[in-house]
Amino acid sequence: MFNFTSLKTATKVADLSKDTKELLNLFSTSGKIVLISHINPDGDAIGSQLALYHFLRSQGRNVSMITPNYLQEFLKWMTGADLIEIFIRDRKNCRKLIEQADLIVLLDFNHANRLGEAEELVKASRAKKVLIDHHLDPEDFTDIAISDTTKCSTAELVHEIICSMNGDKAFSDKPYSEAIYVGIITDTGNFEHGSYSSRTFRIVADLIETGLEKEKILDRVYNNYSADRLKLQGFALNSRMVVIPEFKTAYISLSREDLKAHNHVKGDTEGFVNMPLSIKGIIFSAMFIEKDGFIKISLRSKGQFPSNEFATLYFSGGGHMNASGGEYYDTLENTVNYFLKVLKENGWRFDDME
Ligand code: 5GP
Ligand code: MN
Repeated sequence: MFNFTSLKTATKVADLSKDTKELLNLFSTSGKIVLISHINPDGDAIGSQLALYHFLRSQGRNVSMITPNYLQEFLKWMTGADLIEIFIRDRKNCRKLIEQADLIVLLDFNHANRLGEAEELVKASRAKKVLIDHHLDPEDFTDIAISDTTKCSTAELVHEIICSMNGDKAFSDKPYSEAIYVGIITDTGNFEHGSYSSRTFRIVADLIETGLEKEKILDRVYNNYSADRLKLQGFALNSRMVVIPEFKTAYISLSREDLKAHNHVKGDTEGFVNMPLSIKGIIFSAMFIEKDGFIKISLRSKGQFPSNEFATLYFSGGGHMNASGGEYYDTLENTVNYFLKVLKENGWRFDDME
């Protein structure tokens, strides 16, 4: 039923779980399969979605892909990216795909609200629903949830699931390998942060065995900026970054006017929040972006500092220990002042951190 190519350094997967067996059965028996990634999809959302797509297509399955709102420029080169339907651009077709689906696989998120406008349709769909994700505290809204928070990326998890379906033999296909690699590098900041492990490197070794052109992919993913984006980055660091050494913290705040002045397009501020962490002694970084009626907050930290506790406690959000986010419904100025206030209240947390 499924054909795999055996690799020299084939990835070893410990045991075939009950869920994976059930998933294999669903993949084999479902007529129409729809893969959906989360709103504002990052490299891991699209990478894991495309990887699973290429695998299932190679097995002759009928597969469609949907993402809620848009595709970032740096991901558009990926094989199959042009086949991903954007929900808000083609609601009619996406509605049809969701309503007629027999199996819906949700990738790289764990709360139904990350489906954006597609949330109610997916919930109402008669399809079997499967979640494949690596974020903490998954919401119970699918028939099966394969959630593994020890994985650096959903792409890594997808790869392991596919390997485990055929006695630890990896699937060998160029677009597939590229998609898994993009998921892994983007979620780990090119192996700088996150829960990557020796296993992650073994997987990458397997991908390289398939002829993965890693330099070409790194160039496409990371050297894909507009001049305006680079100028906005310079402005954010030069004029909008504040360093608070006593709390080992730095933050960047950008107003709508700041963004407009730099011809901002969606995705331009992606990654800015990581930059203050390169300052010696800084372990906590925040970014505040003024949106329509609210402030979007991104938080990043180093080591054991729980940025997600801040996101949950103070900004109605969540995420991972070192990468999290949330929202605050006030002006940019009031949000920053509120952040400074809660920072002071939590001052003790920074004492032993490095
Ligand atoms: P980013 O800063 O890149 O937007 O988000 C980083 C991570 O923080 C995401 O992968 C997600 O896990 C989490 N996150 C960001 N914003 C929110 C939010 O508003 N709510 C929740 N629950 N998590 C968020
Ligand atoms: Mn991810």
